[in-house]
Amino acid sequence: MSIKVIGYAAQSATSPVAPFSFERRDPRATDVLIDIEHCGICHSDIHSARNEWGWTRYPFVPGHEIVGRVAAVGKLVGRYQVGDLVGVGCLVDSCRHCDSCLAGLEQYCDNGFTGTYGGEDRIGGTPHPYTFGGYATRITVDERFVLRMPENLDPAAAAPLLCAGITTYSPLRHWNVGAGQKVGIIGLGGLGHMGVKFAHAMGARVVMITTSGAKGADARRLGADEVLLSTDREAMTAAQNSFDFLLNTIPVGHDVDPYMLLLKRDASMVVVGAVEPLKQVNGLHFIFRRRHMAGSLIGGLPETQEMLDFCGKHHITCDIEKIRIDAVNQAYDRTVKGDVKYRFVIDMSSL
Ligand code: NAP
Ligand code: ZN
Ligand code: ZN
Repeated sequence: MSIKVIGYAAQSATSPVAPFSFERRDPRATDVLIDIEHCGICHSDIHSARNEWGWTRYPFVPGHEIVGRVAAVGKLVGRYQVGDLVGVGCLVDSCRHCDSCLAGLEQYCDNGFTGTYGGEDRIGGTPHPYTFGGYATRITVDERFVLRMPENLDPAAAAPLLCAGITTYSPLRHWNVGAGQKVGIIGLGGLGHMGVKFAHAMGARVVMITTSGAKGADARRLGADEVLLSTDREAMTAAQNSFDFLLNTIPVGHDVDPYMLLLKRDASMVVVGAVEPLKQVNGLHFIFRRRHMAGSLIGGLPETQEMLDFCGKHHITCDIEKIRIDAVNQAYDRTVKGDVKYRFVIDMSSL
């Protein structure tokens, strides 16, 4: 037996995302079955649907910012009950015994995590050999990879916390961003707008570094103290050697040198956006001021729950445009153009 589901899938790198019927596994003893209410559109969904990273298998069902209500639970599930408001992010399983998994850093599992879409099911016996994401009516997930959503937040506006939220929260925490620091968030999109909100909530002085002058007023409303236009060479030169930390969400390979030069001695830039070759990296800028460049991948389950609880406490949600699922292809095109404030979220009742 399995569960019939309606979703949206891409059938090839060049075809639109379109209606697709498939099956989910019946809940195993530790599984939760979720009725999906909302799912965010991450730029990674677009990179993957269009096979821009070269690892997509078709049919491909995107979606890893999933919020919904528990519809059924397996007999050993202890943490959730039918009706609970829950979330699922980018991970649905991992080996659970390597050093990273034991440290609650399942995203760095030594044996490879199971992604919410395109991941290998570790147990088998499932209707499909690889996982399908959240652009669908329902999903079955092991309770260990299910998050509890704060009930005081709008569930649609909270959905993107499950990827855009944790991807920005985790490096800000890991690199101890806080009061007394000047922090730059590069790129005002889905990730960047959450980076601004979190860095502001953590007490830092926040500078929005953007290619879009028109986004300046919005950046200030989101919590930025200053706006730096990265296309303004004079302003970029004047800002050199002044930042304690940079979070770089640019979604494509780019020349990192102008950004590295913004860092003070010993400061770090963390790249989360460009999951592909960077164009230019001059060693000089690392060597002369002992600067660092690092990367960061989403966040583990404990930290994702911590981030959701932090958002519940501080009333932090994402700025979203809610859409019907039949508008998903236009939403993809608009996201690629940077024309979204600041995350599209699919209302799954439109399916
Ligand atoms: P998004 O909404 O499209 O935002 C990206 C922003 O970057 C744009 O709004 C734009 O902001 C800026 N930008 C775009 N193209 C640029 C260019 N060529 N040069 C300079 N700036 C540019 O994307 P997102 O959903 O935030 O995702 C950002 C990237 O992070 C994607 O590549 C995604 O795959 C990746 N990602 C990584 C992780 C991880 O764990 N590391 C997790 C989720 C997503 P301005 O108009 O302000 O310049
Ligand atoms: Zn994502
Ligand atoms: Zn592991």
